[in-house]
Amino acid sequence: MSKRIAIVGAGTAGLHLGLYLNEKGIDATIFTDRRPEEYANIRLLNTVAHHSVTIDREDALGIDHWPNDGYFGHYYYVGIPGMPIRSYGDLAKPSRAVDYRILQPQLMRDFEERGGKIEYRPIRVEDLTVLSDDYDLVVIGTGKGGLGTLFARDEQSSPFTEPQRQLCVGIFKGIAPAETRAVTFCISPGAGEMIEIPTVTFSGDATALVFENHIGSDLEVLAHTRYEDDPRAFLDLMIEKLKQHYPITAERLDEKEFDVANSHLDILQGGVTPTVRHGHVKLDNGKLAVLLGDAHATVDPVLGQGGNMASYAAHVLGEEIAGNEVYDELFCERVDARRAGRVLGATRWTNFMLSNLKELPNHFVEFLGRVMMDRQLADRFTDNFNYPEKQWDIFSSPENMVAWIEANETGAEETERPFAQTGAQS
Ligand SMILES: Cc1cc2nc3c(=O)[nH]c(=O)nc-3n(C[C@H](O)[C@H](O)[C@H](O)COP(=O)(O)OP(=O)(O)OC[C@H]3O[C@@H](n4cnc5c(N)ncnc54)[C@H](O)[C@@H]3O)c2cc1C
Repeated sequence: MSKRIAIVGAGTAGLHLGLYLNEKGIDATIFTDRRPEEYANIRLLNTVAHHSVTIDREDALGIDHWPNDGYFGHYYYVGIPGMPIRSYGDLAKPSRAVDYRILQPQLMRDFEERGGKIEYRPIRVEDLTVLSDDYDLVVIGTGKGGLGTLFARDEQSSPFTEPQRQLCVGIFKGIAPAETRAVTFCISPGAGEMIEIPTVTFSGDATALVFENHIGSDLEVLAHTRYEDDPRAFLDLMIEKLKQHYPITAERLDEKEFDVANSHLDILQGGVTPTVRHGHVKLDNGKLAVLLGDAHATVDPVLGQGGNMASYAAHVLGEEIAGNEVYDELFCERVDARRAGRVLGATRWTNFMLSNLKELPNHFVEFLGRVMMDRQLADRFTDNFNYPEKQWDIFSSPENMVAWIEANETGAEETERPFAQTGAQS
């Protein structure tokens, strides 16, 4: 029997699923509200780094269009007053950040060139029922806003009802690359975190800066100051805050050159409410629809997990659609169980870090200190950004944090502690 799948949304969730199904010869139609040619003139959507587990999936789908633009590790800076810590950890394989205003339309074109159908129109909640009459399964991959928000929260996995950081995010020129092409992850205790990401954008290589400002700190002003109102004043404010809180980046600034990389649309400000929703919903006609990507689980971007989770979950769902004929409650439960290790691992780890990076309890500071001082620990911690379920295994209790350090530090006999979390490790 030939299957017909409706996918609402052409983000990473919808596109990775659509391209996967297309490769398996399964008829998938994507319904989305934005055409490829519109992306060049919209505001920055996000600043997403794909980890190597995601790039491997893109490679397998034949959509790895930027094979030489990866970065190789993470620099770390913890601005403890009087004794700042600097460190570095390698990734086992490169990660990569390409402006989604370039990447998403490219993947849409890939999908259409391979015979995939895209219908360009906004889908309302009542349309889902109509789609479910025509298709064997409806997948909702509409991101963190809009349609997805109409469905019920999974309260147990959603401890927050409001954003935990006020974000100021942009893509800039005028920041010299670090010695190794790498992300720089900074902590300014009591004020915020800042992630610097080498990024491919319309103008070529540039630098994404993600300011994760603690609410009420002196950095929060960055989230409320508009570039358009006075570009020079905005840039001067940013330079001042970089010098004060994130010197590891400020020292590579060319102040005369520093500006948005393409246009005023390179700045994005606001907050993300971390939210998990139930993985599937029952529509008015009794049929089921599956939630995927941010529509299912939205995390704050501080650890760069949302897009990678969306890709992972899309591949799990794709495999299950290909391997089953009936898309009933049991099917949805199986999908939920298979993606839970990665998706809930990333959610819990991110929510834990949001709280602990703000409060800095002693055992957490000790853990960070030991990881930063031991290159083997720093390398393993860095590569584990690929496997958030492993990170959650480590951070889930102070005892686990100590046990992981002891099992993985240089000179430890055991090479790696086995992990309790389930789920495929790719
Ligand atoms: C500042 C920032 C930095 C980030 N950094 C990282 C990172 O480094 N690494 C990482 O993995 N993740 C990161 N993320 C998270 C990442 O952006 C998201 O998790 C990811 O884009 C989610 O993909 P998605 O397909 O679920 O949703 P989206 O990318 O939001 O796609 C939703 C799609 O649905 C369409 N749509 C919406 N409503 C409708 C409708 N009613 N009808 C039809 N179509 C509709 C949209 O046009 C879009 O095509 C970051 C996020 C932000 C904000």
